Amino acid sequence: MAYPANKALTVNADRLWARHMELARIGAIEETGSCRLAMSAEDAEARALFARWCREAGLEVRVDGAGNMFCFRPGLDPERLPVGSGSHLDTQPHGGRFDGISGVLAALEVIETLNDEGIQTNAPLAVINWTNEEGVRYAPALLGSGWYTGLIDEEGLAKAHTPDGILFRDEAKSRGWLGEGSEKFPLGAFLELHIEQGPILEQEQLQIGVVNTVQGLRWLDVEVTGADGHAGTTPLDQRQDALLASARMLVALNEIGRSYGPAARVSVGRLKPETDGPSTIVGRTSFVVDIRHPDAETLEKLTQECAAACASVGASSGCEVECSQRISVPPTVFDETCVAALEQAAIQQGYSYRKMASGALHDAANVARVVPTAMVFVPCKDGISHNVREYASPEDLAAGANVLLHAMLELSK
Ligand SMILES: [Zn+2]
Repeated sequence: MAYPANKALTVNADRLWARHMELARIGAIEETGSCRLAMSAEDAEARALFARWCREAGLEVRVDGAGNMFCFRPGLDPERLPVGSGSHLDTQPHGGRFDGISGVLAALEVIETLNDEGIQTNAPLAVINWTNEEGVRYAPALLGSGWYTGLIDEEGLAKAHTPDGILFRDEAKSRGWLGEGSEKFPLGAFLELHIEQGPILEQEQLQIGVVNTVQGLRWLDVEVTGADGHAGTTPLDQRQDALLASARMLVALNEIGRSYGPAARVSVGRLKPETDGPSTIVGRTSFVVDIRHPDAETLEKLTQECAAACASVGASSGCEVECSQRISVPPTVFDETCVAALEQAAIQQGYSYRKMASGALHDAANVARVVPTAMVFVPCKDGISHNVREYASPEDLAAGANVLLHAMLELSK
């Protein structure tokens, strides 16, 4: 039976939740946490369980040259490219049960719901587990989707290794999760469900976030040079205190960030004084400014203003300042058709929702470079993630999966 417009069609919330709990038993830590680093024994075990569920649901499980799992359901029209959905099963060392996992399991739940109802789609469907999203053991993060979209070439993948020198490909192969060759399975569209990892949906009491952009990111390396001095002998008005100048810069950077409204982020998480003595005036410091905004032009302006503020504070503090840009990731604007499919599904299902930008990077941001893509967020408690206390409710997960279900039906009809 081909898909009839069936608003009442919903996923099995209990099955979706039970699968979360079953998967969380692999690499379980501290009662509610998970530790399944990419291509570890625990990750391999989680992959095996997920593959078993996929095969039981009638999917053909294939693995590509970066260990990405593509689990295919045929469509009525074999000429069409598959509509894919998924996320990642690997976790942070002190991770939770939902970050990434929910996106993979929701996509599988969509397939099982279609199986239960005997619904076939015109385009094939694919449930996807991207390799090494978290980047804990292997750099860079988002390795599987990075390779898939060409951001990481064969040489880059061949070089990826753990800090203790184990090559990614060797380990993936020995675990049985490396496919042959460099063929990439093409997709017609890609949707990723993810927990929000922020507080906005919960604070606004909304069930669904339709994600239309992913923030761009810049890193500014700032070096401040003054002069070392004696804390007892150098008068306060005759110092070139690089640490004090840096502190003033941090305050100025924060004020600039705030002046750009709620979508802007400006942070300094790493500051290194070159000396570390309680009685030494610090002559040299370095720090990194992490700057984010969903709009490319604003991000550029914000970055310029941050650099200018550091220079001006440096000048008034008797210090020299050097600013250089290390990382620049442009904002991602998701595909209009995919965003509209998710929004329509949220409206049709009667869920409260808003459109929003993603603060964190996701595999979907990579995939969007080559495939029409969008994301759907579900709320997570207190905005907490990368933490054993990470929590999303069964109801919210089911709501997200229902939005995914109807958006996938729309895109594959
Ligand atoms: Zn994630």
